Amino acid sequence: MAGELIELHGRILACALCKLSESRRKAVPGEGAFNASLMLVGEAPGRNEDLEGRPFVGAAGGFLNDLLSSIGIDRKDVFITNIVKCRPTANRPPRVNEVKTCRPYLEGQIRLINPKLVCLMGNHAINGILGKGYPVSEMHGKQVQTVDRRFFITYHPAAALYMNNLKETMTEDFKALSKILKQAG
Ligand code: URA
Repeated sequence: MAGELIELHGRILACALCKLSESRRKAVPGEGAFNASLMLVGEAPGRNEDLEGRPFVGAAGGFLNDLLSSIGIDRKDVFITNIVKCRPTANRPPRVNEVKTCRPYLEGQIRLINPKLVCLMGNHAINGILGKGYPVSEMHGKQVQTVDRRFFITYHPAAALYMNNLKETMTEDFKALSKILKQAG
């Protein structure tokens, strides 16, 4: 399994399936434990992530680390990635065709890591995986069970940096996430 994941990440690093590959500095496959119980999925690498080749290393990443520590989880014990693996220029949101092209990589990561819970952070991750019909404002703090996978919905950590009241909302969401994770064993 680790071998297959390493091979998949190699393909992501060399990917040229969409235009984002032309402007990226580094593709960002994701990082963390290959046997994680919890996987967290954001939108797309930003400037810092594109430079370092690691997910959530900027300010939003700092808040994500705080959220994880607030429920007693160390970042190295989860797997953190994005719906799109290369940075869209000028921090625009990823386009529908970019999400579609990139999605098999995330699907492969979910299959190989097989986490108990996949936390989708923000509308881009939610729509990209579950489709429309799960608006974050209504669904945050809740789980969604599909045929073969359990998802959890919350806001994107960057949103809380702009709207201060979302910090408390996300802290509460993470308490609910922790409960679900414990129940899942
Ligand atoms: N925002 C994201 O969605 N992903 C990152 O990796 C960093 C910021």
